Amino acid sequence: MYPEIRLHIAGEWRGARSGETLPVMNPATGEEIGRVPKAGQADLDEALAAAERGFKTWKAVSAYDRAKVLRKAAALMRERVEETARILTLEQGKPLAEARMEAGAAADVIEWFAEEARRAYGRVIPARADGVMQLVIREPVGPVAAFTPWNFPINQAVRKVSASLATGCSVILKGPEETPASCAALIQCYLDAGVPGDVVGLVFGIPAEVSNYLIPHPVIRKVTFTGSTAIGKQLAGLAGLHMKRVTMELGGHAPVIVFEDADVDKAVTLLVGHKFRNAGQVCVSPTRFLVHDSVLDEFTDKFVAAAKTLKVGNGLDPETKMGPLAHDRRVGAVEGFVQDATAAGAELRAGGSRIGNQGYFFEPTVITNVPLSARIMNEEPFGPIASINGFSDDDEALSEANRLPFGLAAYAYTRSTSRAEHVASRVESGMISINHLGLALPEVPFGGIKDSGYGSEGGSEAIEAYLNSKFVTQSRS
Ligand code: NAD
Repeated sequence: MYPEIRLHIAGEWRGARSGETLPVMNPATGEEIGRVPKAGQADLDEALAAAERGFKTWKAVSAYDRAKVLRKAAALMRERVEETARILTLEQGKPLAEARMEAGAAADVIEWFAEEARRAYGRVIPARADGVMQLVIREPVGPVAAFTPWNFPINQAVRKVSASLATGCSVILKGPEETPASCAALIQCYLDAGVPGDVVGLVFGIPAEVSNYLIPHPVIRKVTFTGSTAIGKQLAGLAGLHMKRVTMELGGHAPVIVFEDADVDKAVTLLVGHKFRNAGQVCVSPTRFLVHDSVLDEFTDKFVAAAKTLKVGNGLDPETKMGPLAHDRRVGAVEGFVQDATAAGAELRAGGSRIGNQGYFFEPTVITNVPLSARIMNEEPFGPIASINGFSDDDEALSEANRLPFGLAAYAYTRSTSRAEHVASRVESGMISINHLGLALPEVPFGGIKDSGYGSEGGSEAIEAYLNSKFVTQSRS
């Protein structure tokens, strides 16, 4: 059921020149299900040469024709949702329903970028002298090096690849070694739709070796990365040294403020689903719950009760609401957060332990009264843990929300429009969703501020990141 994984370089699906491979595990069983080729320098050189050739041909294709090809890729993605979702669940662990949503949403993303790039308008600037024309034209930035992680193997890749292709760039994607096959299934859709083989490359390998080689390489003109803040800072530094355009979508630690006038039942229902989606391995996952003292007990009791009913299991089982963690590193990391917080005085209200000894399952976990000195209140948890603390005054909640260097997503629940306006204007984050969950649609900006990175992966801003502005001024001869 699990496909053979290959690199895609210069129009050919093949293994690494060295023949070396890395294991791919099924997180629900802990067993090896496949091997992924480990690209070396020879493979990367061929991918770079292809990207350079591919850029020359693809940028000459009109935005209109590129959009036609991409719309076909979106249709193929839609047709293949079921088979792609099964592969995604096998290698990543998420419930099949979430995998289907991810694969289906990818088609929307491709279509949106295809259309938006047709509107990459330049402008005409009124000249000071008669007979002079001043134009700003938009040009694709050039070959892109894109790095994507394992938590949303399709969703993270589709934004970067679609924005590159829609604007006329070629792209080399370094996909996630833990979850390579669903990412490869996405790339196959672009190729089957007619994107030339030189224009889109897919490699896997040792992440640091690949990024250290691709980012400084003169062929690469733009770098885009999704992953942790620590690695993002290293890659942004390297890109800066070589004057490459950069988009960084990094870690978060999203505050959720539940005010005294919130609809508590609605907040619990939405937030339990959002917190434990993809076992909490989501950059915009709600992680620091700040609940007004007057509704703290009610919110916590209802949240804990709902968390305890979630069925954890193999993502292929239709009853499963939360799958395993995606790889064994996360199990140790999540255990460490719980032990550290409880040792510091936090109360464990639900979960807290690994489930069984097969696969990487962990209980949906809720901790309360968590000291701010605990690691979980300072480092991104990236797992199924909700930390709930009370507050008595709105400003206190806002200052806790803004205490950390992260600034990706934030959430608030209130029936007051003036509170909603206040929190939206004061919270230091790239995105805030109030009284509902409305982040990450293709047509809206998606990105962080502060240590959560810069640039956007959605909305018209995401197209800008792949375009240069060229100023052309001419007068009558
Ligand atoms: P990690 O920091 O080692 O890796 C995170 C991602 O970056 C992986 O996809 C990895 O392949 C890639 N990566 C690592 N070093 C790299 C390098 N030198 N060059 C290029 N890519 C590199 O950690 P991990 O154990 O895989 O994940 C744990 C942490 O990563 C989480 O705590 C979370 O903060 C972060 N993360 C964030 C996202 C996101 O959506 N923003 C996704 C996955 C992981």
